[in-house]
Amino acid sequence: MMEQYNLSDTIYALSSGLGKGGVAVIRLSGNRVLDVLKAVAHLEKPKARYAYFRPLYRGDQVIDQALVLYFAAPHSFTGEDVAEFQIHGGRAVIQSLLETLGEQTGCRPAERGEFSRRAVINGKMDLTEAEGLLDLINAETERQRVQALSQMKGGLGQLYEGWRQDLTHHMAYLEAFIDFPEEEIPPEKLAIIDTDIQGLIQKIQAHLNDNRAGEKLREGFQIALIGAPNVGKSSLINALTHKDVAIVSQVAGTTRDVVEAHLDVDGFPVILADTAGLRDSAGEIESEGIKRAVKRASEADLILFIQDSQKAPHGDPLPKNLTQKNVLTVWNKADLANGGQGLCVSAKTGAGIADLWVQIKEILKRDFALSDGRITRERYRVALNDCVKNLTHAISANELELKAEDLRLAARSLGRITGRIEAEDLLDIIFRDFCIGK
Ligand code: GDP
Repeated sequence: MMEQYNLSDTIYALSSGLGKGGVAVIRLSGNRVLDVLKAVAHLEKPKARYAYFRPLYRGDQVIDQALVLYFAAPHSFTGEDVAEFQIHGGRAVIQSLLETLGEQTGCRPAERGEFSRRAVINGKMDLTEAEGLLDLINAETERQRVQALSQMKGGLGQLYEGWRQDLTHHMAYLEAFIDFPEEEIPPEKLAIIDTDIQGLIQKIQAHLNDNRAGEKLREGFQIALIGAPNVGKSSLINALTHKDVAIVSQVAGTTRDVVEAHLDVDGFPVILADTAGLRDSAGEIESEGIKRAVKRASEADLILFIQDSQKAPHGDPLPKNLTQKNVLTVWNKADLANGGQGLCVSAKTGAGIADLWVQIKEILKRDFALSDGRITRERYRVALNDCVKNLTHAISANELELKAEDLRLAARSLGRITGRIEAEDLLDIIFRDFCIGK
């Protein structure tokens, strides 16, 4: 059995980034906040949402001059009493205040995501909003930021909660007839319920049929460069990342391994992977590289199949198991020969690289076609599929009891997404991804 989550401790953490800075923010939440403010900031009955500039004390020693804010429950991030200390962002200052807080009765350091977890438990936000907040903190590109902010503001949660309430409404209606078996449910009412369920199934299926755009926006759009050795894949990666795009980070590897660059392309996160050359009769290390290349390419959202223009018009055949993918054939070394059908570029002179980007950006725009409230996690997808399964079952159920039970299960699946029926272990898993201080 999971231990019941303990809300009685007052928790604290450094909420701003690690390392030196002009200002650091230390946050405190729980029912001892007022006692701590009295002991550490000599503040009695502080006014909520008011900035106090004053010294902080460890015994009779002054730690720092700080800006102190108090938020009275339930009007705070966590829904509990909260205090924020804005202190100077030096290591010793931060350390001293953290130690001082640790010395206060009933106070302990917060765990990962614990502030957000309390906010969810206290009904300040639902799980999708908390996860949106996590995405906002992790957002590296503009479009990731916009999607995360929309989810954090509750757009997705409201969609699922609306569906769940519709189901709960139907369930309650059916249950009324189950409780009074002498009353017959009017057949036309039953038909209306079934039509509604059918409509919801269609809505959820349309929502699921999104080409995983929301998830890709969170995780990055994968582009794999494949082709025979020496066609110029590494040179092309260099040419492609030379300008027009910002490199977020570059993960190094050997030429036989997969090397990737994280890019920001018009606000879309793109992961460009240079893979080992494809060749049939290869040495052992290379064949491991090829296996990885094919695997990587089979998972990619777009394949750039690089060919040597000197081999035009025939070139190499695309490996069989990859033919079904989104593929752009790119003829490199256009400075040496005329390429075949497709895009002709030269990694050496830079010719055609801008056109290649234009085509890639078109695919990005198409695959990320914007719609509001998108599925951003596999967790939501699994629950939505469960929900559809139970709804389909509900329609074919002949007995009211069975129909009501199926609706209950379907509503539960939706509730699992927003945390309405949260299980402790589910919360443990979700908040583990958060950083401390959130
Ligand atoms: P990879 O094995 O596919 O990664 O190929 P490399 O990027 O290492 O390139 C193989 C060779 O082709 C190198 O000597 C490059 O300088 C050369 N090369 C790559 N692209 C071009 C190009 O567009 N034009 C010319 N002339 N040479 C190129």
